[in-house]
Amino acid sequence: MKTTIEWTHRHVPDGTIIPGYTFNIAWGCVKVSEECGNCYAEGIASRYGMKLWGPASTTTRRTFGIKHWQEPLTWNREAELQGHRRSVFCSSMADVFEEHPTLEPEREKLWRLIARTPWLNWLLLTKRPEHILSMVPWTQWPDNVWIGTSAGNQRRANERLPLLIQVPAFVRFVSYEPALERVDFMPWLQQIDWLICGGESGARARPFDLDWARSAREQCRAARVKFFFKQVGGRYHNSGGRLLDGRTWDELPPEKPEYVI
Ligand code: SF4
Repeated sequence: MKTTIEWTHRHVPDGTIIPGYTFNIAWGCVKVSEECGNCYAEGIASRYGMKLWGPASTTTRRTFGIKHWQEPLTWNREAELQGHRRSVFCSSMADVFEEHPTLEPEREKLWRLIARTPWLNWLLLTKRPEHILSMVPWTQWPDNVWIGTSAGNQRRANERLPLLIQVPAFVRFVSYEPALERVDFMPWLQQIDWLICGGESGARARPFDLDWARSAREQCRAARVKFFFKQVGGRYHNSGGRLLDGRTWDELPPEKPEYVI
């Protein structure tokens, strides 16, 4: 489905902004780290009366039928017809690399879908980067798959970024969201292309200090890494706005020259 998540938008050279999409291979997950504390996806599923969060031994996952899986084929056709690529965030309601038996066939479908949608940039964001290389089928990483991991604190950056930089993707990105403390990203930034930063939103949003965002921005600047400031956060996603030091920061990672359309 179309999304308002700003970091899925694409800015083409003539200034046009192309909205992005979210696509879920499933719904459901199990919390693995501090960033998951107020998982918005779990809240959405609960509002639909679905209990999908918990260990594989006790909790199922929601999967989808053929109509759902055909949607990206339509987006791909539209993108090709218009001559503008689209970005797809996968998955906002699950983690593609979760070890859950229900996800195994869904991942296989995803790899086939990615092969059939060369006009889509697939943004796979995970909190389980230790599984990426063993779960993907590719001997050569596809140029239209960007790979990202979350690091809201130093502990998770130390664990996950060394794994992320092993992945031979053209675009590697870090989601510093929700940012939970100041983080030193410098040891890995030379091998990272993009960093997204943001404070938490929701009724139980945890505190966010703009100095953490400034620190991340300055690290990115020093390492020539693109920096995207998503939000200050607060009670609602737009409570604090999107300004950092009086302006927005909407940098996007460099794409292959043939993809800049
Ligand atoms: S990994 Fe993502 S979807 Fe899973 S519990 Fe954590 S925040 Fe929620």
